[in-house]
Amino acid sequence: MTNLGLENSYTSLPTDFYRFTKPEVMPCLELLKLNTELAELLDLDKDFLLSEDGTMFLGGQALPETTKSISLAYAGHQFGQLVPQLGDGRALLLGDKICKDNQRRDIQLKGSGKTMFSRGGDGRAGIGPVIREYLVSESMHYLNIPTTRSLAVLLTGEKVIRETIQPGAILVRVAKSHVRVGTFQFFAIRDQKDHVQRLADFIIDRDFQSIKTKKNKYRLLLENVVEGQANLIAKWMSVGFIHGVMNTDNTSISCETIDYGPCAFMDNYQEKKVFSSIDQFGRYSFSNQALVGPWNLSRFAETILFLLSDDQDKSIKIAEEILLNFEKIFNSTFNEITSKKLGFRLASKHSEKLYNELLALMESGQADFTITLRSLESVLQKSCQNNFIKNFVFHEKKQKNQLNNWLKDWHKLLEREEVDKETAIKRLRSSNPIFIPRNHIIEKVIREASEGNFDQFNQLAKALKEPFTHNSSFVDFYNAPKKEELVQQTFCGT
Ligand code: AMP
Ligand code: MG
Repeated sequence: MTNLGLENSYTSLPTDFYRFTKPEVMPCLELLKLNTELAELLDLDKDFLLSEDGTMFLGGQALPETTKSISLAYAGHQFGQLVPQLGDGRALLLGDKICKDNQRRDIQLKGSGKTMFSRGGDGRAGIGPVIREYLVSESMHYLNIPTTRSLAVLLTGEKVIRETIQPGAILVRVAKSHVRVGTFQFFAIRDQKDHVQRLADFIIDRDFQSIKTKKNKYRLLLENVVEGQANLIAKWMSVGFIHGVMNTDNTSISCETIDYGPCAFMDNYQEKKVFSSIDQFGRYSFSNQALVGPWNLSRFAETILFLLSDDQDKSIKIAEEILLNFEKIFNSTFNEITSKKLGFRLASKHSEKLYNELLALMESGQADFTITLRSLESVLQKSCQNNFIKNFVFHEKKQKNQLNNWLKDWHKLLEREEVDKETAIKRLRSSNPIFIPRNHIIEKVIREASEGNFDQFNQLAKALKEPFTHNSSFVDFYNAPKKEELVQQTFCGT
């Protein structure tokens, strides 16, 4: 087998960074889904991937001779507690390659068996979490939110025991890199400063080329990661996404959304919404994400303090200044996006106020976040406010008046900004998605998939590719859950 253009840039690092690991032999590999568009971007031959040899390759069973598959070492703060030794417990990096867009990307298997880092775990993944990650990560991509992506789903022929017994599966994941805040922490807590520097140089060389030759490149690295994470989290929050496990080992230095566990999109808007069954105290609730971001980045900054200057006090000052920018960048990106979601060209104090007022009305009126925002379009289009108003459950006159006043203020600001109707409608449509991977739909898809029916999985994956375009064939995916369908809790499924 040719090596498919796979390289192993991570193995240029000292061996403390990884362990050579072979995937376990699986009883009966079967390719369930191939993301042909992503295969194209990766410059991988689609016909090969769809062949039997391709299945064996994607499942890690027949790798090109030159492939050195590895699992990576990392540490991490999990729910605020430092765990010095984590690492890829059920993931395997096959290698990386330069894609057609000139970006280098990793290809990683998740669920391919035990590794040196498995601790008590079985190294397996069940079909539920694999399908969830496939759908949500691809949806994020089409919503223009930086994310790891999903190249393929395979069945392993095994049964995996979690909350339920489910078919075993492997997700083939693609990422700009798998370097996490936790990777830096792994070496920092062992006081291996040379390794921290090697890692910083590695990721700069790989993902931040423009700062490579700059004198203050480590400071610029911190600036870039703070900016990337602030923008990322602002984008999550603009679509009602809750990551669920924002531990530092799940915080990517390449600033992509990574490690989709108990993540979820909100149905009804709730500022403090939590879905994850393990997030008992709401540390990673919807609105807390904007606070956890800088907390995680402070942990990153601590690991590279010694690279910022020779004087520790000065380093701390530099880091603090950069970290303080998180809030500014977050607010500016968030306001820019959300003003567009209301149809405005520019963000202003007024658009910010209107958005916050709308959130408060949605929360008290138990309104569906995605549908309510999208229905603003029909207010302008048909001059029919009812499509919008019917999303809110208000019993008191006072609340109904508040909503009407909000609509008046919104119209007024559109007029004041001289936004013409057509332009505002276009903006509303391109900023407010129709199709998001709703929890109750994902659960239904997973239930069916566990019984061997993958039709809905394929259909939903298709719908999520064009999240902003109305498509009557997919109305079932658009609707909010009925009371009995409502999902209250999501699980890691690890
Ligand atoms: P996560 O919550 O998925 O970010 O995982 C946290 C840690 O647990 C990572 O080090 C994973 O590699 C490890 N882990 C998760 N699930 C498993 C599993 N089934 N077997 C072995 N290790 C696992
Ligand atoms: Mg993780």
